[in-house]
Amino acid sequence: MKRCMALVLCLMIALALVPALAETAEETAIHDDGGKIVVLATGGTIAGVGEAGKTAGYKPGALTAEELLLAVPELAEVAPIEAIQICNVNSDDITAEVWLTLANKINELADDPAVRGFVITHGTDTMEETAYFLNLTVKTDKPVVLTGSMRPATSISADGPMNLYEAVCVAASDEAVGKGVLIVFSDRIYAARSVTKTSTYNVMAISAGEMGAIGVVRDGTVFLYENPTKVHTTETEFDIAGLSALPRVSILYFSVDADPELLRFAAERSDGLVIAGAGAGEFSEAWIDIINGLSIPVVISSRIDDGVITKDNLLCDNTVAANNLSPQKAAILLRLALTGDASQETLENLFLQY
Ligand code: ASP
Repeated sequence: MKRCMALVLCLMIALALVPALAETAEETAIHDDGGKIVVLATGGTIAGVGEAGKTAGYKPGALTAEELLLAVPELAEVAPIEAIQICNVNSDDITAEVWLTLANKINELADDPAVRGFVITHGTDTMEETAYFLNLTVKTDKPVVLTGSMRPATSISADGPMNLYEAVCVAASDEAVGKGVLIVFSDRIYAARSVTKTSTYNVMAISAGEMGAIGVVRDGTVFLYENPTKVHTTETEFDIAGLSALPRVSILYFSVDADPELLRFAAERSDGLVIAGAGAGEFSEAWIDIINGLSIPVVISSRIDDGVITKDNLLCDNTVAANNLSPQKAAILLRLALTGDASQETLENLFLQY
């Protein structure tokens, strides 16, 4: 009888442990054979080559996707990898055409059950823009992760191999499913909407201001703590299939005595404008006069990193508040919005929703 009770007790303890074990498995489930990771290489410093040991004066976009992967043999322990070279450029030369190629490629491959997730290697200068564009246009729950580096492959203590390894770990992680497009950089995981480049030289060059990182990677284990709440990927209304170009949006940066005629010049050659205003999206009386007369959509953002611009902050009735989107991200949302109906009311709703 005593034996029987001991057996029942053991069984009850084992049953109680099952959910805890399952939870641990979910947190760290990155090494099982759940499909391959597709690495889409676009260039940047991570593929940069220069004078041995030096961190500046190198050529970005010199190494191929295969060469990047060869530098990190540990990737083989995470998942099978397929490499695709999309382009090999400094990220200041990324174009809307490259964005459309990337989004279409991901949308095409995402249907393949053998593909588990995507990593895009990219220069850091415009990585946040590519990330936000993809966040609004890829139609998959599978992880899409961007990474890069601040030091070229030939420098002392290059940061590219570790960033690539951690990006692949996140792309292979069950936890990253359905989180929208992510950037993994220097052990941290960021959501595409809030991430930005904050240093011109330091390896901790990527951050998300007051919104912060949403997770970390430690020795290949992924810990995600927050869920991005704004509409992304499968839930967005933007369909880029069939597009070969995007409308042109110009960003104008206000500063003391900034020439108001630049607004007229930019408006003539653009489908929409974004203003990087001072403080809560403000500018001079001379700018107000010209913006009041413009007939193309004008979105008001700020040259300040942290903060929110609402309708109440607007100085001109014909403008739309960017909320807390940076000027460069507001421009992406406006470009996509201009591919469809772009009434002022539609734009106001989009800038609140996305
Ligand atoms: N200029 C480089 C690029 O954006 C900088 C980097 O990758 O860190 O391609």
